[in-house]
Amino acid sequence: MSTVHVPNLIGGEEVAGDGLERYNPAHPAELVAVAPASGAEAVDAAVTAAAAAQPGWAALPAPARGTILMDAAEILRGRHEEAARDLVREEGKTLAEARGEVRRAIDVLRFFGSEGWRLGGQVLPSSFPDTTVQTRREPVGVVGLITPWNFPIAIPAWKLAPALIGGNAVVLKPAELTPLSTRHLTEALVRAGLPAGVLNVVHGTGAVAGEALVRDPRVAAVSFTGSTAVGMRIERTVQERRGRVQVEMGGKNALVVLDDADVEQAARIAAAGGFGLTGQACTASSRVICTPGVYDDFVAALTKEAARCRPGDGLADGTAMGPVVSEQQLGTITAAIERARDEGATVAAGGETPDGLMLAPTVLTGLSRDSAAAREEIFGPVVAVLPAEGLDDAIDLVNDSRYGLAAGICTRSLSAAQRFAAAVRVGVVKVNRPTTGLDLNVPFGGVGDSSSNTFREQGAVAVDFYTWSKSVYLGWED
Ligand code: NAD
Repeated sequence: MSTVHVPNLIGGEEVAGDGLERYNPAHPAELVAVAPASGAEAVDAAVTAAAAAQPGWAALPAPARGTILMDAAEILRGRHEEAARDLVREEGKTLAEARGEVRRAIDVLRFFGSEGWRLGGQVLPSSFPDTTVQTRREPVGVVGLITPWNFPIAIPAWKLAPALIGGNAVVLKPAELTPLSTRHLTEALVRAGLPAGVLNVVHGTGAVAGEALVRDPRVAAVSFTGSTAVGMRIERTVQERRGRVQVEMGGKNALVVLDDADVEQAARIAAAGGFGLTGQACTASSRVICTPGVYDDFVAALTKEAARCRPGDGLADGTAMGPVVSEQQLGTITAAIERARDEGATVAAGGETPDGLMLAPTVLTGLSRDSAAAREEIFGPVVAVLPAEGLDDAIDLVNDSRYGLAAGICTRSLSAAQRFAAAVRVGVVKVNRPTTGLDLNVPFGGVGDSSSNTFREQGAVAVDFYTWSKSVYLGWED
């Protein structure tokens, strides 16, 4: 397989460079992509280009901006399989998961492309005579987007599309580990006819390129998805210079299994949410909370699911789960498992690394509620099973967390499901469904240390972050 050199995109020009190297996590000798480790001067040039291009882009009618997004969707659709295969080689997910992610990016471009026909404000009555009031949506200007490696096509899409349809110019700093995947999306937008400078891409490390982007006072708004530690730091930095900021961060998502649940089905839901995407999803079910009548049977059923889900190369037939993304991430996960063992946990399934970055899906039991594995994000295929006395105790346990992204419940009781949905402090609730897997037309975000919890991503409301409201009083009297 050949190595792809992924350039920066600044003011419509491709600027080659090196310094970032990405190897296939399933075949660590295979160099998949090389990208520039850009310095602050590249970010400066990209922001300058974006600032110059933004007024012209905003002046284009919104439906015309939407047409470009729609055309980009078609171009990406034409490369669906190629993009999905590159995504597997670069990030490690299975081909089925990668196809789903590319499909998601296509649909996101279509959704926000069509929003170009609907963007608008309100017309309101005024208390003043012979006057009406209209509200206008104004673009914020130049927007900085910083994205993680775990959905390197879908997440840039769900930030870029609302930013662009809102009339903004963008500087995107993709994750270091996945430059090629993101390139499939940005190249589709360029080929669709996006004017030079409206979309700029600067590859590089978070500490250098990311920091420069966040600190640039010409960047009116920063939208970040990634870890809580980095997100909180970015939030502070942007707020200090009075920029607009949106940070979507980690989670410790719980799935509750009540006594009345179908245990086999609950185990399949927990496995899909906990081991799917190699557990490397912000909404992954990393804790399962069982009530007493179901605890033992659930642990046995989940252990069986784990044994069925052997890790392998995402491109190979029949692979249920891909490798962990990197050596560093594997080290973090195995250290978390070791610490859980030291704290008295039983490793009921998995825990071993059969080959390279392959980690067997892992089930931990016997943890105290205060242990790190029960409280902190691990971001790998590791599920901690915890007991609870009943629904109220389970709800307390769900809410006893610094995070608040997603939570699920498996039950046949409508009233238990409704009580749960009302009581849990999270942004997404799933009933009898995995905590992972979202619709693109539905607002997404969390509370607590999972999100800035001001503006939501996805759905039509995603455009709110990228626009501000101006009220115009129209008097028609001379
Ligand atoms: P990360 O925080 O290490 O990196 C995310 C991005 O931030 C990368 O592009 C990185 O280069 C950049 N960055 C790092 N330091 C920076 C700095 N000082 N200034 C500016 N930018 C900087 O996260 P990751 O390991 O790529 O992603 C995994 C994390 O993302 C997990 O915690 C996961 O829960 C979270 N995540 C959240 C969501 C969500 O919607 N809530 C979605 C996907 C992933």
